Amino acid sequence: MKHIIFYSGGIGSYAAAKRVIEKHGKENVILLFTDTLIEDEDLYRFIDESVKQLGAEYIRLEDGRTPWEVFKDVRYLGNSRLAQCSHLLKQKPADKWLKDNFKPNECVLYLGIDWTESHRTKAPVKNYAPYKVEFPMCEEPYITKEEMIAELESLGIKQPRLYERGYSHNNCGGFCVRAGQGHFAHLLKDNPELYKYHEQKEQEMRDFLGKDVSILRRTRKGERFNLTLKQLREELEVKQTENIDFDDIGGCGCFVSFD
Ligand code: SF4
Repeated sequence: MKHIIFYSGGIGSYAAAKRVIEKHGKENVILLFTDTLIEDEDLYRFIDESVKQLGAEYIRLEDGRTPWEVFKDVRYLGNSRLAQCSHLLKQKPADKWLKDNFKPNECVLYLGIDWTESHRTKAPVKNYAPYKVEFPMCEEPYITKEEMIAELESLGIKQPRLYERGYSHNNCGGFCVRAGQGHFAHLLKDNPELYKYHEQKEQEMRDFLGKDVSILRRTRKGERFNLTLKQLREELEVKQTENIDFDDIGGCGCFVSFD
């Protein structure tokens, strides 16, 4: 029986891998990473060091496209309601590899969702059936993300730098089309160059489709409006913040949300 961790480069999947290895032995565990090719450079440092420390087999998959290339191919700009990047760059390569290599009775799958997000476990269980999916960080002892990071650093491995810089996840280099206004406001403050890059890519998609599309939405008086990254940046630059929802961080969950 193989125990396969969806190894995302996040602290949750590291902590889950550690628990699974303690229970089943590193020789029975596979760490499966799917690369979107726009990851933060420090994610690779974290994966290298943590894989060495865990000692289990490591598999890296890639589709070969970035999220922006996917949006062009499917002629649709991803957003919080439909993010085909996650399906085509993460779930599909992982599904293919899984089906090519294991039958449902030959492996168990694991995700790093923790006890604070246990409402997110239903979708992957349903989606991967008949493969069995488990969530070691939803089990006792319940530990916080800070405790997971402390445990990691006690072993001499520095946490992924995006956490230190205030991001809630370590995916797609701090970008995510499922993220919200607050997340993008943080990206602009932390890394204006990278924000500008994604702003330009969003504009390219608008020109390419010839449509008023945007990653973000704004709701006012019950009505929803498109909110481009350009518009959000311009409002932030002149400190016109009354309509910006800084609490809208959004949830990134490539192996948790199924479009
Ligand atoms: S992290 Fe966000 S942008 Fe990146 S692949 Fe997943 S849904 Fe798409």
